[in-house]
Amino acid sequence: MTINPTLGRDPALAQVGVTPSPLALLLLGRGSDPASERGVDCPGELPPAADPTLAARAAAAKTALGDRVFILGHHYQRDEVIAFADVTGDSFKLAQQAAARPQAEAIVFCGVHFMAESADILTGAHQRVILPDLAAGCSMADMATAEQVEQAWDDLLDAGVAAQTVPVSYMNSSAAIKAFTGRHDGTICTSSNARRALEWAFGERGGSKVLFLPDQHLGRNTAVGELGMTEADCVVYDPHRPGGGLTHRQLREAKMILWRGHCSVHGRFTRDSVDEVRARIPGVTVLAHPECRREVVTAADLVGSTEYIISVVDAAPAGSAFAIGTELNLVQRLAKRHPDKTIVFLDRTVCFCSTMNRIDMPHLVWALESLVRGETVNQISVDRDVATFARKALDQMLALP
Ligand code: SF4
Repeated sequence: MTINPTLGRDPALAQVGVTPSPLALLLLGRGSDPASERGVDCPGELPPAADPTLAARAAAAKTALGDRVFILGHHYQRDEVIAFADVTGDSFKLAQQAAARPQAEAIVFCGVHFMAESADILTGAHQRVILPDLAAGCSMADMATAEQVEQAWDDLLDAGVAAQTVPVSYMNSSAAIKAFTGRHDGTICTSSNARRALEWAFGERGGSKVLFLPDQHLGRNTAVGELGMTEADCVVYDPHRPGGGLTHRQLREAKMILWRGHCSVHGRFTRDSVDEVRARIPGVTVLAHPECRREVVTAADLVGSTEYIISVVDAAPAGSAFAIGTELNLVQRLAKRHPDKTIVFLDRTVCFCSTMNRIDMPHLVWALESLVRGETVNQISVDRDVATFARKALDQMLALP
């Protein structure tokens, strides 16, 4: 693992009592840390990005592999890659689809690292999951490391509240965090079932507090927006401050302990984005993902997962107008698919998921052609013990009422 050696000595951080994160972002393609969502080296000879035959090469390799390969494409993936996906969807749908294809020896996951890990956990031992570029991580997932989360649990033990706390972890987390969740009898959730996950945690599971990882916005939007809690019921645990920056009293009084993590893409939208688009397009329906900040979600007309957003736009009559607060590749694809509707991005600034965009044609061609030659590159393989407990937490999600 390559970590900037100057970290930990920043006097400005020390002055304000902030413990520097061991998770400084590696420059993409430099250094190596396969246990993390961070960018890592991508070995191998990639075809040049300007090669005009890339699409033909990918098609030829896919045909040669036949049913032995199954290509998954996340909704946020770029169009030229999505064109080769056997199925498109959100992270959980894709992992389920992979599990439903036992005949596929190789699953090529055009998404990000935590998604490929989930696919590896849910697929059979004979299947190999491949992430075409190991630098395709997720900044949100990287905001909660196993070490930090174990420290947080120790803080909850010290405050005397761990026994009544149920971990609920968003799908967008590393396998290690999912395993932590399983070890403490918690559950995974998606943006579609977060409400049911919290109802289970406070109901059948018998918790009086939830430790929600790693997306504070999804946790807050669900607890306050859907379960009727107040902002005062929520505290934010900052892993870079001693004790999370919270007193024992705050931990004892909180119902929701939200991890201080967020999506760098959805976190860009603001209340101003909503006001601006409403002024620019009268009658527009603002459709936001629950990873957006609370101020955006409360100002939006409709809120839901990527699958929900797609279904709303698909079902709307011609002439409808939508401003959509989610990743730009998906918004552009919806706009192309519905030329009879006005579909705009919620913000004026371009906002792709930069790590998702690491999966490009050169990496896809390289991964597929390697398979044709009998070589497996960039295989994602989750440690067995980690996979067992992560699977437990994922199974709990599947069993949610
Ligand atoms: S859009 Fe956000 S949550 Fe999704 S992969 Fe990118 S950084 Fe992670």
